[in-house]
Amino acid sequence: MKASNLAEALYQDTEPTPLAQEQKPVLELRNVNIRYGTFLAVKAVSMEIMQQQVTAFIGPSGCGKSTVLRSFNRMNDMIRGSTITGSVLFNDHDLYAKDVDPVLVRRRIGMVFQKPNPFPKSIYENIAWGARINGFKGDYDALVETSLRSAALWTEVKDKLKQNALSLSGGQQQRLCIARTIAVQPEVILMDEPASALDPIATGRIEELILELKSRYTIIIVTHNMGQASRISDQTAFFMVDEKRTGYLQEYAPTEQLFLNPVHKKTEEYISGKFG
Ligand code: ADP
Ligand code: MG
Repeated sequence: MKASNLAEALYQDTEPTPLAQEQKPVLELRNVNIRYGTFLAVKAVSMEIMQQQVTAFIGPSGCGKSTVLRSFNRMNDMIRGSTITGSVLFNDHDLYAKDVDPVLVRRRIGMVFQKPNPFPKSIYENIAWGARINGFKGDYDALVETSLRSAALWTEVKDKLKQNALSLSGGQQQRLCIARTIAVQPEVILMDEPASALDPIATGRIEELILELKSRYTIIIVTHNMGQASRISDQTAFFMVDEKRTGYLQEYAPTEQLFLNPVHKKTEEYISGKFG
């Protein structure tokens, strides 16, 4: 990004992300604390998220995985009483600077949720709508096709684009939500347990899709599924909770290293299923 600040950069047209020459962090947390009211939900999280890699967030329920994930595209702003300290940097720019528009942030850093949430509109409209509100002036048919192809859904839906999206299976709906996210040309895609509501076959297709998408996007995925984390991610972040139920980042390492040779005993216990 060449603009001098993020607010300017967000208004520039997105260029295709060049292939990473060397590993560079797209997102960075520096000593981040997040509260809900007075409750300290996560403390002192510092981490870098590498470009065009898949980073998995794992850890027991309530350790703050979703909270940290939402800090990357300012979704916590929508939760009344939620506050954040420390810094969140996106391509070295402060994501929480006063002049930054959270709506534009969420376009560049898209999010896919646990439960597929397509709009109760046609398959076509699910893709076109986001582009339209962003003032897209190009060819909508082409955009819809490209986005659906990128989400590995095109061949299944190309003959029924006018059909209501809610008529699709859960797995197809989730791929549609991924297509909808891709359609507005994000740099980063955040996924909060995107396959946990799906059957094993649909889950497998989402995993394949994530592996395809990482050549173009930076992906962060929260998952409860250790196998999934080890199959699809390059880096794994293991979060834990302390005695006050405050979450923290216990260990963060290349996935293979974290699973085969964890440094912390808690990590080892968690990945071997001793708690969670
Ligand atoms: P995880 O995704 O790892 O299960 P969360 O990020 O959802 O964890 O939650 C971390 C902590 O913050 C938990 O103690 C949870 O109860 C609390 N929390 C999450 N969301 C909210 C909210 N909207 N309001 C109040 N507390 C919340
Ligand atoms: Mg969660």
